[in-house]
Amino acid sequence: MIVVMKAGAPKEAIEEVKKIVRDTGYTPHVLPGEMRTIIAAVGDGRDKSRLESMESLKYVENVVPILKPYKLCSREVRSEDTIIKVGDVAIGGKHIVVMAGPCSVEGEEQIISIARDVKAAGAQILRGGAYKPRTSPYSFQGMEREGLELLKKAREATGLPIVTEVMNPRELEVICEYTDILQIGARNMQNFSLLKMVGQVKKPVLLKRGMANTVSEFLMSAEYILSEGNMEVMLCERGIRTFETATRNTLDLSCIPVLKELTHLPIITDPSHGTGYWQYVSSMSKASVAAGTDGLMIEVHNQPEIAFSDGAQSLKPAKFAQLMKELRPVAGAVGRTI
Ligand code: PEP
Ligand code: MN
Repeated sequence: MIVVMKAGAPKEAIEEVKKIVRDTGYTPHVLPGEMRTIIAAVGDGRDKSRLESMESLKYVENVVPILKPYKLCSREVRSEDTIIKVGDVAIGGKHIVVMAGPCSVEGEEQIISIARDVKAAGAQILRGGAYKPRTSPYSFQGMEREGLELLKKAREATGLPIVTEVMNPRELEVICEYTDILQIGARNMQNFSLLKMVGQVKKPVLLKRGMANTVSEFLMSAEYILSEGNMEVMLCERGIRTFETATRNTLDLSCIPVLKELTHLPIITDPSHGTGYWQYVSSMSKASVAAGTDGLMIEVHNQPEIAFSDGAQSLKPAKFAQLMKELRPVAGAVGRTI
């Protein structure tokens, strides 16, 4: 249920509603808005009438049910777009944020040089995997803690905030010491215990869509994080499995407007994993911007031919810089900046 408070409701009135919600066996989530505060009461549906009776309270405007299975991430609970601040970078507003960097951190020279190049081209966040989810246990598994140290050095050298993947709850604490944004990879989109754990930390989360998951399942996974108290979640479309083999995955561009309608959370698109080939990254980036994405995640490598992972889909820095230039008029055409 959603409890909509009247404009100017005092703190005590909000506390009173929270208490009733708790006493009824629900969890209250306070969502302050520009005009009025909303309190989402999330629970198993029992004693609804007790919640509905709060309409008689002086500062309660109305009490309405949330119809969707996902609650806190739905537009029903919050109509305004959520904007997530990472340092000076705002994700989810008019400005489209580009996150770029190598698939894997491979060494100091590599990550710092790429970080400098992507920053010069206009990227605002540095990506780089230190713990890598690889299909084969014999493939490069990432530099792990050393990789985190190198990401930190790259941040010191460029000022770019970092996004890196957490795969295992065991590593969550150490990764939190280093990263600015936690990435949950496609393979872990439904690792519900990991989702609950990242829901309990104070770090923005970039949640990637599972390769065979529906939009509804994607939102339910985001809901796991939000329901633990972490409201700073961005959703990343990274391609889904279809019968098509010409590309690594099929980038589901239509999910961008669909998600925009259903949720207030920022949407990021990853055309690198979405296509699997650097040749298609530019057109799919432009298409994503035209479709309304709030951000792009793009793999960039200075020597893709010898990259430890995902070289085939990585842009060289010069091609990335060219893409950034070409994206500006596309963003302008849809009323955005990049
Ligand atoms: C990645 O970002 O390098 C990655 C492994 O992505 P995904 O989880 O989307 O496959
Ligand atoms: Mn990759």
